[in-house]
Amino acid sequence: MALRLHNTLTGSKDVFEPLERGHVGMYTCGPTVWNFAHVGNLRAFLFYDLLRRHLHVAGHRVVHVMNLTDIDDRILDQAMHANKTIAEYVKPYASAFFEDMAALRAQQAEHYPRATDHIPDMVAMISALLEHEHAYVADGDVYFRIASFPAYGALSHLDRGGLRAGARVAADKYDKESVSDFALWKKAQPEDERIGAAWDAPFGRGRPGWHIECSAMAKRYLGATFDLHCGGIDLMFPHHENEIAQSEAANHKPFARVWLHSEHLAEATGEKMSKSAGGFTTLRDLIAAGHDPLSVRFFLIANAHYRSRIRLSTDALHAAAEQVRRLRDFADRLRRSTPAQGEDEALLQRISEVRNGYREALDDDLNLPYGVGLVFELLREANAALDGDRVGERGLSELRALIDDVDAHLDIVSADEPGLADEVERLIAEREAARAARDFDRADAIREELRRRGIALEDSKEGVRWKRVPAAAR
Ligand code: AMP
Ligand code: ZN
Repeated sequence: MALRLHNTLTGSKDVFEPLERGHVGMYTCGPTVWNFAHVGNLRAFLFYDLLRRHLHVAGHRVVHVMNLTDIDDRILDQAMHANKTIAEYVKPYASAFFEDMAALRAQQAEHYPRATDHIPDMVAMISALLEHEHAYVADGDVYFRIASFPAYGALSHLDRGGLRAGARVAADKYDKESVSDFALWKKAQPEDERIGAAWDAPFGRGRPGWHIECSAMAKRYLGATFDLHCGGIDLMFPHHENEIAQSEAANHKPFARVWLHSEHLAEATGEKMSKSAGGFTTLRDLIAAGHDPLSVRFFLIANAHYRSRIRLSTDALHAAAEQVRRLRDFADRLRRSTPAQGEDEALLQRISEVRNGYREALDDDLNLPYGVGLVFELLREANAALDGDRVGERGLSELRALIDDVDAHLDIVSADEPGLADEVERLIAEREAARAARDFDRADAIREELRRRGIALEDSKEGVRWKRVPAAAR
């Protein structure tokens, strides 16, 4: 089955074909580094990661661009208060972003452009817009003239007539021609100079507006027209609508072909998680509360489809941790199992169905939760078959292949503490030797050490077996 993605532009799930066969250019709106990313932001970033990973699974090469917004009004305010330049102010938050992404095992994008490193690209684009009268200067600021771009609103399916008529009424309160016109460039204020937030431009010294940075950086790294553009749903309007207007008006070429938007993560109370509103939870908060970043990863990508809203809750995180544990346990069990003599044909058939079903779920607009559900059902059957010594060479290798398929997206099994299995096996052998030598103190000490590390031992006919214990039972 071909990969189908829900395109906000068409409002339907469409078969995805890149412009150039086997090669995908993808732009994703990244963090504004005025503070730590909250778990809602991280949901969006892990959605990008899931998409990127599945594009790889589907056989594409991907050039993924994720910007860092290192200049905006909030950054200016905070830097001014902290008496720092904007570059000094954002530095720790940019580092924190990369740390969080690594802890969550997000794959690295090919490019992480920063807005302040691309001012000349933005200036060039604004100059082109001024030249063609898609933009105008008002009191030193430069605005985009929405009335000059009739396709405005196509992404968010806005009623354009209403937008403009309504806008005209209130327009005289502003220097802008219309309230919905947005700033491309803001005139430098004296205090902007002190914090390193002003640049020269033919239309006057100042700083870029937020929307123009994504248009300019997308063009720099992916060209005027490219395959995919993603962001959280709150960015669809006006940010993405504005990006389309600026880019298409300046380049005279279509901008992104397919737009994907991920839904929000809400606080446990149901309220939107938002940095500006004050109430927000960071990955650091969750780690301090004892959660494993990979349970957070599982919760954010595998609990619900990316287009449905989810709520952050301790229960949901614990449930995710339990699923991570089950999957890892199963992978460990496969690693240790010796093949049975015969094969269980019905089981082989089921594994093949589940492998196909999993792939189809992902091809169906990245329905990871559905695919993972299929796999968990099979784990129950496969565990029973392993208990009954009914899994032969082929069964084991098919099951391992299934775990690899799932881990291409989840990345929680191979991320398991490297060398843990070897270390546990070594300690078990040492404990057996201690028992044989009747050194029971040493044997008990080893069992206790393993218990502390979340490993329980169990005597079975094949010798000592081990498994992970849920955190709550430790
Ligand atoms: P920002 O750092 O505010 O520029 O946002 C970075 C990304 O996080 C954008 O794609 C936003 O759409 C997304 N985002 C912001 N708040 C939430 C939320 N509560 N849930 C999910 N995504 C969000
Ligand atoms: Zn953007």
